[in-house]
Amino acid sequence: MNSQKTIKESIDLQGVGLHNGMQVNLCLKPAKANSGISFIRTDVDSDKNLIEANYKNVSSPILCTKIKNSDGISVSTIEHLMAVFYGEGIDNVEIEIDAPEVPIMDGSSFDFVEAIRSVGTEDQNSPKKYINVLKKVEIKDGPKHISIEPLSKDLIIDFEIVYKNPLIRTRRKEFKFSNGDLTSIYNSKTFCLYEDIDQIKSQGLAKGGSLENAIVVKENKILNEDGLRYRDEFVNHKILDCMGDLMLSGHRIFGHIKTSQGGHQLTNALLREFLSDKSNWEFENFDKKEKDRKDSAYPRPFAVNA
Ligand SMILES: [Zn+2]
Repeated sequence: MNSQKTIKESIDLQGVGLHNGMQVNLCLKPAKANSGISFIRTDVDSDKNLIEANYKNVSSPILCTKIKNSDGISVSTIEHLMAVFYGEGIDNVEIEIDAPEVPIMDGSSFDFVEAIRSVGTEDQNSPKKYINVLKKVEIKDGPKHISIEPLSKDLIIDFEIVYKNPLIRTRRKEFKFSNGDLTSIYNSKTFCLYEDIDQIKSQGLAKGGSLENAIVVKENKILNEDGLRYRDEFVNHKILDCMGDLMLSGHRIFGHIKTSQGGHQLTNALLREFLSDKSNWEFENFDKKEKDRKDSAYPRPFAVNA
């Protein structure tokens, strides 16, 4: 639990991008300790193809999480893959990708989890550092809000969705990380309302979207033949997205998150606000209780896996 981890072997995956509809090849590679999660765009010149998976690189997180480097090279829809790194305790991976979007697979994290568990993880000779919340921080945007507050050695994501749709409606779920079983979170698929599809497509998005990779809800009906995987699938998926976006802090977090109508944009706004002030948090080593926020080797709140 205390050591950083990477994957044991390289993993090749293929799929289609949800928003750009392109075929994508992905290669996950083991990476050295303290290097964090990074994407390498193999279809772009090598002097500008590295994009660090860091909350500071998030750009216009509309309907997915997109990160961009200083040369304007981006990769989007990273959240379902990032959520698996969070959940499986993986700190360091290099991801080669030949397109600007991570494949959507079946709309959940299922394929990523299967692939990663099939090769396994490897402990590295460097301690994991957790972000321990010291003070409550809250972000509000009209009726939407998100907050983070102190919690001892655990992460709770308390998520409420509010939809006028009679099938999705209002649903609230509290997910506690230490409960261990992430299956229903990992396997819950992304979803959209049938009436929003034209508008989403008119923005040039969801070109690769289909009933194979998203739940589509029309009034009180699910259009997918197989229906839902879980009764709480909608809110579960929002928790999955939130976990993936939290991984962009570079660490796991000990804290209690409460959100109503949260999403990629709000989670990113929270990370920016929360991590920008060092009185809000400190680094904690899980079992040695070694508090090192004053350690000059780790001066920056945004240092990935510092
Ligand atoms: Zn999602």
